[in-house]
Amino acid sequence: MNPCTICGFVLHGARALWTTCQACHDRILARLDAIEEIWPRLSAALEPGRALGGQRVSGSPEPVLPLNGRILALIGPMGVPNTLYLRYADLTLARGISPASRPPGEDARLALALWGIRKHLPWAVQGTDLTELHRTAGRLADELRTVTADADTPNVPCPAELADGSRCTGRMRYDRGRNTASCRTCRTELAPGEWLDVWVRLGQPAA
Ligand SMILES: [Zn+2]
Ligand SMILES: [Zn+2]
Repeated sequence: MNPCTICGFVLHGARALWTTCQACHDRILARLDAIEEIWPRLSAALEPGRALGGQRVSGSPEPVLPLNGRILALIGPMGVPNTLYLRYADLTLARGISPASRPPGEDARLALALWGIRKHLPWAVQGTDLTELHRTAGRLADELRTVTADADTPNVPCPAELADGSRCTGRMRYDRGRNTASCRTCRTELAPGEWLDVWVRLGQPAA
């Protein structure tokens, strides 16, 4: 009989020689579900210049990252899609197969990573130490929750170019219900992935 590598619960019965108990297996799935559910809301939390200044939280010796910096950290090179893609790649390599190649868009990369982890998890709980996946998924879900919890309705300049080559002077408003951003002036509408791209471009000078 083995203890679960994540929680130490002693495994028995059909799982006696496995590495992961049912409760930890379920917890990993729940964390993946939470990430999938909250990820589209991250777009709504994006607003250039928001909460810049790095205020300190009392009792904390570290300056708190400005909200925009925290969001950038979730969509950057060490962000949610890349981090989970690497965990998916770990599982395929442990299984002796190659991971599907990394798609360029953040949304597509996250979708692939979630699909791949869910697909290989029933195999991985039998013989793989999933402590790192369990911890990482929990941390990412918590960070996404924190960043999206207090997001106001964002309001950023419309990126659309008009027929005469000038820039639209309207503002983009994010619609949480439909997960799109739209401009009332020119009626441009952006999907969450496009909105992330616009936001990253706008946010760069302030970063
Ligand atoms: Zn366990
Ligand atoms: Zn516009």
